[in-house]
Amino acid sequence: MQKKFYQPEAETMPVNEIKKLQEFKLIRQVRYVYENVEYYRNLMDEKGVKPEDITCLQDISKLPFLSKNDLREAYPYGMLATDLNNCVRIHSTSGTTGKRVVAFYTQNDVDMWEECCARAIVAAGGDAGDVVQVAYGYGLFTGGAGLHGGSHKVGCLTLPMSSGNTNRQIQFMMDLNATFLCCTPSYAAYIGESLKEKGYKPEDNKLKAGIFGAEPWTEEMRKDIEKSLGIKAYDIYGLTESSGPGVAFECCEQNGMHINEDHFYAEIIDPDTGEVLPEGSKGELVFTSLDKEAFPLIRYRTRDITVLSREKCSCGRTFIRMHKPMGRSDDMMIIRGVNVFPSQIEAVLLNNGYAPNYQILVDRVNNTDTFEIRVEMLPEDFSDTPKVITKKEKKLQAAMKEMLGINPVIRLAAPKSIARSEGKAVRVIDNRKKMGINT
Ligand code: ADP
Ligand code: ZN
Repeated sequence: MQKKFYQPEAETMPVNEIKKLQEFKLIRQVRYVYENVEYYRNLMDEKGVKPEDITCLQDISKLPFLSKNDLREAYPYGMLATDLNNCVRIHSTSGTTGKRVVAFYTQNDVDMWEECCARAIVAAGGDAGDVVQVAYGYGLFTGGAGLHGGSHKVGCLTLPMSSGNTNRQIQFMMDLNATFLCCTPSYAAYIGESLKEKGYKPEDNKLKAGIFGAEPWTEEMRKDIEKSLGIKAYDIYGLTESSGPGVAFECCEQNGMHINEDHFYAEIIDPDTGEVLPEGSKGELVFTSLDKEAFPLIRYRTRDITVLSREKCSCGRTFIRMHKPMGRSDDMMIIRGVNVFPSQIEAVLLNNGYAPNYQILVDRVNNTDTFEIRVEMLPEDFSDTPKVITKKEKKLQAAMKEMLGINPVIRLAAPKSIARSEGKAVRVIDNRKKMGINT
């Protein structure tokens, strides 16, 4: 019989018990960091808060926030809460938005993280009979190690492919009958495209499901991947600072990701004022770790924008759910005074029959923002007749204008002219940043 939960006692715990558990662990974690991390102690002293002021979950709002800049400032050992001798692993962020942050793990930290990933695999229908192809990068990046460890915990046969070498990915996927694929959504889309080019149909592979995350992706992209690989595509969320992937994961309902609340306490705040917002509001996600030993986080501002919902989920899990993050607050571009998220552009492209191969180029010329979207034509729609191309560009431009409120220049490009991503895709080239313009 297929197991529905990896750790049912935690995953289906009544909400009032989860809250009691979180309260107990919060008080303990705050005392632990105050005693062991000078950086935190100083932050708390500056704010005039002592560990004994934290007696219930609501008291968390008395604590200072922690930002990525704090972590960068404390690089490399400033946030370490235990002796290095107690640590067994180091990972580092991808450096998507600047200097990398390094995180440390004790064996208990690694176990907790891998269990979170195991919960995600089981929630996506995985069990010991599955063959899990891990095509996230291995190494400092947390994607590979996290899903690899989770797959072991569930007892699956693990294929530690790492990212890249797409021909070999496909050969092993087919020859070794992989049933799960774990990688970034942009790489999953690329693998789907490559399978098609090799003449495989979606039903030719044995894949049942994929667990994709580490970067924002739209519902449109999910449908695209599900179609090209013939699978169900599940979202998984996490960040190196909090351990890695598996902080939150999707269940069979695929309607938001359950946050592993026995290990992480989540808040939504107004990114401008820092005010805690009520459930259901859109804002910046803030995490407090509840069990971490080497690299605990108190009120860490993720810069990811999302919404939390405590609505009952029919999968039976009681953990709160977070919506797909629509991007980071710092992914948002302000172009000619208008807020633009890459995810909005992706949704328009996929809804208009294009593949998710695009690049957004922003610059400032003569004090005016320029905004261009380069998009590949699909091989089956390819044309090199200028009249046909202009017509298609105009049509796409109108659809973008409707979604964004401003007109980008659309440049349709030949198939395969935009580099594919094997990890996190780089979609935006904003030259204004180089000029020191605050975007
Ligand atoms: P970096 O911050 O350098 O990219 P990480 O590799 O730790 O370092 O990436 C964590 C970030 O990746 C998250 O804060 C979030 O912005 C993004 N991310 C991870 N999973 C998802 C997901 N499922 N959907 C959207 N964004 C995600
Ligand atoms: Zn659920």
